[in-house]
Amino acid sequence: ERVNFITFFHNIIDRFEMNKADDIILNRQLPNSESYVWIDKDKMTQVIDNIISNAIKYSPGGGTLTFNAAKNRNKLTVSVSDEGMGIAQEKVDKIFDRFYRADKARSRNLGGTGLGLAIAKEIIEAHHGQIWAESKEGKGTTVYFTLPLIKRSGGDKR
Ligand code: ATP
Ligand code: MG
Repeated sequence: ERVNFITFFHNIIDRFEMNKADDIILNRQLPNSESYVWIDKDKMTQVIDNIISNAIKYSPGGGTLTFNAAKNRNKLTVSVSDEGMGIAQEKVDKIFDRFYRADKARSRNLGGTGLGLAIAKEIIEAHHGQIWAESKEGKGTTVYFTLPLIKRSGGDKR
């Protein structure tokens, strides 16, 4: 379905805003303009829920989550940054593998199966996008994904 990603993203963040702990601050850096994408809303909600849940789960000391969405060329780049525990350099790319959990001792207590990001990758790729992460251990993590923008169409033929 054709969706303005910006309002869709706001609605998901609103849901986390209502349930979050006081030591987590949500910072939205989202444009006021519309950005139309063609998505399966349920599946995309699953992707974003996991990314945001991870950002909170792996930020035991709290901190700011920053949400960004920017248009460049024919795609939208979306990111979620946290100030949590981060991921060691050599492990960052593996977090998208099935059942991979970066720190077994710590993440065992935090719950989960290690499937969330593997499913997210499948869903994003099925939408013709990419997903990746950048992280610094002890500093925080940013998860990025892209989605193709729907070209402007209909009405104005100029
Ligand atoms: P599930 O999502 O299936 O409940 P999970 O959160 O452990 O379990 P993924 O979402 O696939 O699984 O994430 C895989 C691993 O990547 C996590 O176990 C964690 O080690 C690491 N990880 C993911 N996001 C972050 C983050 N924001 N900060 C630090 N580590 C992260
Ligand atoms: Mg997860």
